[in-house]
Amino acid sequence: MPADSLPTYADVEAAATVIEGRAHRTPVLRSRRLDERAGCEIHLKAEHLQRVGAFKFRGALNALSAFDAGQRRGGVIAYSSGNHAQAIALAARETGMPAVIVMPHDAPEAKVAATRGYGAEVVRYDRYTQDREQIAADLAAERGMTVVPPYDHPHVIAGQGTAVKELLEDSGALDVVVTPLGGGGLLSGSILAAGALAPRARVYGVEPAAGDDGRRSLREGRIVTIETPRTLADGAQTTHLGHLTFPIIRDGVTDVVTATDEELVGAMKVMAGILKQVVEPTGVLALAAVLSGAIPDTAGLRVGVLLSGGNVDLARFAELVGAP
Ligand SMILES: *Cc1c(COP(=O)(O)O)cnc(C)c1O
Repeated sequence: MPADSLPTYADVEAAATVIEGRAHRTPVLRSRRLDERAGCEIHLKAEHLQRVGAFKFRGALNALSAFDAGQRRGGVIAYSSGNHAQAIALAARETGMPAVIVMPHDAPEAKVAATRGYGAEVVRYDRYTQDREQIAADLAAERGMTVVPPYDHPHVIAGQGTAVKELLEDSGALDVVVTPLGGGGLLSGSILAAGALAPRARVYGVEPAAGDDGRRSLREGRIVTIETPRTLADGAQTTHLGHLTFPIIRDGVTDVVTATDEELVGAMKVMAGILKQVVEPTGVLALAAVLSGAIPDTAGLRVGVLLSGGNVDLARFAELVGAP
């Protein structure tokens, strides 16, 4: 598949075969107390329990598995605020190739340490003044490495789509599917999976209120670029959708809605208090939007909610969840 071609559901199916037995088939969590509180039947796809603690391992493993012999020798380079970095680092180790990760200075230390722990070399940059894509491109040219971007890549999108494929296989047809939205790899893959397995389901993306470029892009019919948003949701601090993710989202999404930082903390408290689960702020974007009512007309329906990641420093988690 050429790097600029739009993936289809067939690519999601192929990705599912590639990652089978290597990525976890994560559980779907249910809670009556949560359903009562939300007024609908919530099916939580627990990707915070995925390897590296986020769904990103799916796309990374699928992308690296498609490398040819020459690309494997040169290795992989990635830029990321955290979870894509860890995912690429582990996938590189498992597929036996070197990895360089370009990470912002203010990335959570737990994520930086985990990335190094998987054997990758970490190069840091200032996310408010430097262009990470340029840094990665320069390093790739210097060292003969292949860049795997965090979302705008057909194999990454197809890999991310396997999470909602599993959710729909395990829970049956859902009425509504809700996922977090950063650059759109997860949402566009989810749209491909839902389009094939639950064509009548409404599909929503949820982004941080501080950075609603996705919603604006949908309204304006073009990719809108914003300043790096300041939000607790560090995994969704993207400034624009991708050239591959945008058309898939434009044509397949029901709507894009937002959640505030306060709503994210509320949803983290629900996950900790009711479900006994540690989920990072970005990871509860979808749940926060269901609980706030930002997703319209869910009463009594079967709603799939993607919990995207669980990588948060414990001290930070305690501070957020412990506050009254
Ligand atoms: C990357 C990430 C997202 C956003 O995914 P995109 O494919 O960029 O839209 C959401 N949640 C977590 C935990 C992530 O790591």
